[in-house]
Amino acid sequence: MKKRQRTVLVSTAPLLLTTILALAQVAAQTRSPGNIALVNGQWFDGQSFERKPMYSVEGRFTFKKPQRVDRTIDLNNAWIVPPFADAHSHSFGLGIPGADAKYARGYLADGVFYVQSQGNLPMTVADRMAIRLNTPEGIDAAFSNATLTSHNSALHAFFASMILPQGMFPGYTLETLNNVRYFEIDNEQELNRKWPLILAQKNDFIKTYLWLTDNAPFVGPPPLMGKHALTPDVFRAIVSQAHAAGLRVSVHTISAGDFKVAIEGGADEIAHIPGFGNVSLEMATLAAKRGVPVVTTMAQKAGPVDKIPPAMRAAAAAGLLGATNNLKTLAANGVNIIIGADTPTDTTIAEAAYLKSLGTFDNAAMLRMWGTATPLAIFPNRKIGAFKEGYEASFLALDADPLADWAATKRIRMRFKQGLLMEPVAQ
Ligand SMILES: [Zn+2]
Repeated sequence: MKKRQRTVLVSTAPLLLTTILALAQVAAQTRSPGNIALVNGQWFDGQSFERKPMYSVEGRFTFKKPQRVDRTIDLNNAWIVPPFADAHSHSFGLGIPGADAKYARGYLADGVFYVQSQGNLPMTVADRMAIRLNTPEGIDAAFSNATLTSHNSALHAFFASMILPQGMFPGYTLETLNNVRYFEIDNEQELNRKWPLILAQKNDFIKTYLWLTDNAPFVGPPPLMGKHALTPDVFRAIVSQAHAAGLRVSVHTISAGDFKVAIEGGADEIAHIPGFGNVSLEMATLAAKRGVPVVTTMAQKAGPVDKIPPAMRAAAAAGLLGATNNLKTLAANGVNIIIGADTPTDTTIAEAAYLKSLGTFDNAAMLRMWGTATPLAIFPNRKIGAFKEGYEASFLALDADPLADWAATKRIRMRFKQGLLMEPVAQ
């Protein structure tokens, strides 16, 4: 007997109230992905869009029609792209009630399914369940938890002069954040002593902090002047401990000298394009050869200027100029550039728009960075970011062609994750 098929038609009309979209929260356990025929889609292949039938079988893509099709989704000629990603987030584990849920909704509304948190308070199991983290109904995120820095570092100066006064980590002080949001490590003995506490956070990767290891000229607010963070020796010791534990190491860099210490010291990822000093051709080539991804984090330095604390404006302007030059060197030498916003106020929409405005990348390259390279850098062992046989069946259906008009990336008609359709609903 032929099974009755349900056909879902997707309206081409722009969704109403897109700014207050939330997503239907149906328990994952109650929904089985089943076998779905995805018809009339134009699928991004890395260069252009191709019309082809596609199937989602128990959450994975296949080109082969399964024997049983439970339902058909008519994509109505939509442009289908891989979901986007933010490789440098600070939106979670801020200790602010309701913030995790608000930022998780914001990410999903903007089509950002994959997030890498480069510094956060560890989240409890209940915190994670509340935002359906790492389920088909929520974002997927990897967390560094604490940042590894030195005593009295530039990170401390940031927290004291800007982060805490902005209302992040309410109720915490520099003292109570110690050994939770950051670890202070000045030498190898201290690293060895604190390493079990670091591992006890069950970090998905290790975040380290370098700051002007080369004493590059820096224009910053007084609290940051003369500050440093990990020494190159301690940094290298952390890399070897982390690699022995099977953990990747992401590195905060601000100068070209920090970049050199990071790359030569075995970094797995650079968390910021450095803004002070010029990254050498030799280091760019080495980063490319080793496949070390470099996260952009540029738009927040570009403004709007009233969003940048007055004390930081000179540093932001100088850092942006330097980072823009270094981005060109890195991109021209084949470095894997990935997208990250580095602020809860942007899900990477502004970051992507800023990168697009530089004219260094065409729209296809932008889509590959945002939807393929960035997700794969966050989750290197998963089959995501492309429409290939056996890959996770996740995509965004866009109302218009993002190769012709970049603004089409904001016109998301449908979100589909791991074989399940996310239903947009008004909040
Ligand atoms: Zn950051």
